[in-house]
Amino acid sequence: MNMTIPGAVVKDVRASLPRHKTLKYGRRKLTDIRSAALHHSATLSGSPEAFARYHVGTNGWPGIAYHFVVQKDGTIYWCNDPEVISYHVGNSNRHALGICLVGDFRKQKPTPSQIEAANRLIQHLQVQIPTMKQVLGHYEYPGYAWKNCPAFLMGTFRTNYSQFLQKTLGKVDKPKQVPVAISLNDSLLSVTGFLQEGISMLPVRAVANAAGGKVEWIAATQDVRVNGKDLNEKIVEGSAYAPAREMAAALCLQAEWDGKTQTVKLRGCVT
Ligand SMILES: [Zn+2]
Repeated sequence: MNMTIPGAVVKDVRASLPRHKTLKYGRRKLTDIRSAALHHSATLSGSPEAFARYHVGTNGWPGIAYHFVVQKDGTIYWCNDPEVISYHVGNSNRHALGICLVGDFRKQKPTPSQIEAANRLIQHLQVQIPTMKQVLGHYEYPGYAWKNCPAFLMGTFRTNYSQFLQKTLGKVDKPKQVPVAISLNDSLLSVTGFLQEGISMLPVRAVANAAGGKVEWIAATQDVRVNGKDLNEKIVEGSAYAPAREMAAALCLQAEWDGKTQTVKLRGCVT
């Protein structure tokens, strides 16, 4: 996995952290990962070495519990391959990737550099691991409602993260976007999509409404669904855009690209 993250310092400590002499964590495919699990270290300060020593020496675990540790100064420590099934959220371990922010957030607040680094890390990981759609706090996993970890509100964290995504998407992706027209059964819609890296992206809500589809916005997971189908959407300036083919499939339409007029032509029965 490529862990070069623009604007962030990543230190690979996978090979140097204390590990159990005989026990080994199991492994999984990247596609098994569904969520990033946020933790705090529950210590005022600390290091991946100290956490690993504790998890191995005191808990008797195969290695450090976390895949990544984010220090207060924003340095990201890479501690385990994402494929490693480490111990941090009990029965959900197989499908979760552990990110620990150093600090005791019952008494302290994460630093702005730490939040910024966590945002960059999660964004980078979600590109590399598209199945990792959710960003959850330890306390949001089944059986852990009692646990005050990471001891900050995940709703606030996610709002901040989606604002961060919108900002970076706006900055990075906008210059490459070429507008495209959209027609439905040969009548032109008043909204436009855009072409990005050869894929036409359509405004989800407007196109679904025009075609009589049902749009759901799942706030907790920041997911958009059309007629119950999950889309690989992109949020640009607060609106969701999804690939034309996925939109067409969710709405039972055929999509056709007319290069001459730069139009995505949608056809089929409109309910
Ligand atoms: Zn935790």
